Amino acid sequence: MTDTLFAKIVRREIPADIVYEDAHVLGFRDLHPQAPVHVLFIPKRAVATLNDLTDADAELVGKMVLAARRYAAQEGFADNGYRLVMNCNADGGQSVFHIHAHLLAGRRMQWPPG
Ligand code: AMP
Repeated sequence: MTDTLFAKIVRREIPADIVYEDAHVLGFRDLHPQAPVHVLFIPKRAVATLNDLTDADAELVGKMVLAARRYAAQEGFADNGYRLVMNCNADGGQSVFHIHAHLLAGRRMQWPPG
């Protein structure tokens, strides 16, 4: 069981700039944006890290990805492109232990990432 600040955002206990919501997924703007568009897509049901996912979570992860795809289309940058990133644990740079996908858009991304 994890209870992070993202779970508090899901429960509306702390404020966030929410830009997407469906039954299973919430999308809100990152507090420290790394691109002109930087939205975090999280499952409403908390899972701490990618390592904690099971086969039973396949649909949930799919819904996160599809939510990001839907948002990109709706906001009009799907054709220009964007990046969807999930960080895992220390080497991946994860700092909040409630899985989330970073949607970055609005500028040309670099590769390899830092
Ligand atoms: P990660 O480092 O992959 O775990 O990403 C966590 C992200 O959450 C970082 O990009 C932070 O800027 C962002 N963040 C932390 N607290 C908040 C918050 N209260 N509202 C929105 N984004 C946040």
